[in-house]
Amino acid sequence: MYFYCYHCWSDFEENTQKCPACGKETASFSGLNFEDKLICALDHPERLTLQRVVWIIGNLRVEKALPKLSILAGKGHDFIILFEIINTLHKIGNSEAVEILEKLSKHNSGMVRKYASETLLRIQDENTILKISKCHD
Ligand SMILES: [Zn+2]
Repeated sequence: MYFYCYHCWSDFEENTQKCPACGKETASFSGLNFEDKLICALDHPERLTLQRVVWIIGNLRVEKALPKLSILAGKGHDFIILFEIINTLHKIGNSEAVEILEKLSKHNSGMVRKYASETLLRIQDENTILKISKCHD
């Protein structure tokens, strides 16, 4: 289990009172709507933080972040962010995520198109494997 600081979005393994990275209070953590905080943090101006937030959203499979991820993907951000968004869409992997990936597979950057298309294929393969393994249950 990982914990995240909603001030600086560092992750840490112990549920501490203060964030080991920025020293701010994390005590009121559980009382807050963490998913909404994550979604708000998608407006973060600092690229590394934004990348980390996108990564956390994928790890926690925050489906409600998808509309905002879609907007972010449409803004044509830098590659680092777009690639992290693609990874996160892969981790979430539902039909809404697939729709955004389909949009990204028509992106004006060849690199983004290629990565999004490959990810779509991977999701298809995984779904096929899942179906096959269910047949053998
Ligand atoms: Zn912090």
